Formats: sequence, C-alpha cells, structure tokens
Amino acid sequence: MSSRRRKPDWLKMRPPAGQRFTDIKSTLREHDLHTVCEEANCPNLGECWSGGEGPGSGPGTATFMLMGDRCSRGCNFCDVETGGMEPLDPDEPANVAKAVAEIGLEYVVLTSVDRDDLADGGSAHFAETVREIKRRDPGTLVEVLVPDFGGDEAAVRRIVEAEPDVIAHNVETVERLQWPVRDRRANYGQTLDVLEQVSLESDVYTKTSVMLGLGEYDHEVYRTLRDLREADVDIVTLGQYLQPSRSHLDVFEYVHPDVFETWRRVAESELGFLYCASGPMVRSSYKAGEFFVEALVR
Ligand code: SF4
Ligand code: SF4
Repeated sequence: MSSRRRKPDWLKMRPPAGQRFTDIKSTLREHDLHTVCEEANCPNLGECWSGGEGPGSGPGTATFMLMGDRCSRGCNFCDVETGGMEPLDPDEPANVAKAVAEIGLEYVVLTSVDRDDLADGGSAHFAETVREIKRRDPGTLVEVLVPDFGGDEAAVRRIVEAEPDVIAHNVETVERLQWPVRDRRANYGQTLDVLEQVSLESDVYTKTSVMLGLGEYDHEVYRTLRDLREADVDIVTLGQYLQPSRSHLDVFEYVHPDVFETWRRVAESELGFLYCASGPMVRSSYKAGEFFVEALVR
C-alpha cells in the first residue's frame, strides 16, 4: 500500500554527526571541493560518510560533483541551476584525487552536471579524474555517474578507457514519464544505448537508478527493469522521488517500504541483477561502496 501526498514517518532524516563527518567536511573545504551529499542535503550523508568507522563498517562512500554547479539542462525533478556554466577547472582532477587520498575513502562516486556546451561533454575531464584517483591509489574503487553525452559514442568510450570500476547512467523513470521528468534532450532509448555500449565494450559493472512516486504503474516499473537487464545492466537502485521545491514536479505518491522490498526481490531473484538497493531513502550512490563490496563476495 502506498500513501499519497503527506510525508510519511519512514522518510524522517537522521542528522549527520561524528568525528569522521567533521574530518571529511574540513578536508573538502580545504580543497574547495563540493559533494552532492552536502549540496543536495542528502538524507543519507551520515550513513554514507561514516561507512569507514566502527565495527562491521564498510568502505564509506562520498559523491563528488565535477565541472561546476550549473547545468546545461533543466530536468523537472532536479534542484541544480540551469545555464551560466563556468569554464572547467584544470586542477579539479588532481584536487579531487588528493582529497580522496587524504580522507581515506575506499569507494568514490564521481558525478557531474550535464555540459552540452563542451565539445566532448566533459568526458575527458571525467576520465582524467578517474586516472588521477587510480594513480594515487589503484585500490580505490571508483564509480562514475555520467551524463548521456548526447549519445556521443566516442565520449562514452573515453570514460570506459579510463577504467573506473562502475559506470552508472540514470534512466530516472519509466519510458512514458521521461518527459516531463527529464530534460527533453534526454530519453529512455538513448540511456539504454549508453548503458549497453558500456556493457558491450568492457567488463566494467554498469548501474542505473529509477525514482518511484512519480505516477508510474507497476507494469511500467517491471518493464523498465526488464529492459535494463536486456541492456546487460548489472546494478539498479530504486528510491522515492522527493520534491526539492514547489516549482519542481509534485510527488504523486509516497511508495511504502514493503513495495520497495518487493521490487528488490524481483530485481535480484527474478531478473538477475548483481544487486538492487531499494528503499524510500535510497539514492543512486547510497552506500554504494558497501553494497558493491558485499555483492562481489556473495
Ligand atoms: Fe540535474 Fe542532471 Fe538534469 Fe542537469 S542533467 S538538471 S544535473 S538531473
Ligand atoms: Fe552522498 Fe550519495 Fe550517500 Fe547521498 S546517497 S550521502 S549523495 S553518497
């Protein structure tokens, strides 16, 4: 059963705290770097960043935002500002790698705004950041959450050749709702093509994310999961869409945690995904390091 409109108790946030949280924050400020975790005020920040401390802990995950905080696109679910992009900072790849080493993160997610204004969509900058991190410590696991690069296969190949451990590109929602959820330049087929190209050209793990609560039907969610498996996608995450402000798309419904659990079982047991992180608070990079390492040893 799902509840409509009023925010249910299962979406309550736990505020981040602890020494590791403070240490990571000060290292980021020192290098003038930004994370999606902070900028999106992500409800999972405490859990993800503290993965590296305490008994039974995992490697800890943080998501760095590359290439500025202004996007060439305007998706109706996303809080990032559109237009006014700045030139790339050539020192960013080295600075991110330095911060990752200082913080001691074992699993890093790199993502970015879309940069349709750049000839290569920013793919060389992305690739350079992966290489810098691996140069400092080849053992650091790197996940990149990339744009569709407008379907430019050479740009996707540039990312593959940098040899990250996971390449993610988000389908965001079912085919029928691509517009109005995503910018008109994004679409379902193009996203599947990007993911399929990565699978065909490498052994790297592929990953995608779907938001629920936007008005999708169950049969559409199932078809999306099936299409993703047919494109050889390894990992999927499912989370609740939350409206960033009143000018963004309305939440159609708050999906019950039991429904998320059902989709997790369908994705893993019936459709054969390596793993599916599924829950109201799950975001694309939610505890990505812990889930990834656990799935590999299963
Ligand atoms: Fe946000 Fe990405 Fe859409 Fe840009 S392309 S508006 S960063 S979701
Ligand atoms: Fe950061 Fe992603 Fe975790 Fe949120 S879910 S805290 S953005 S790593």
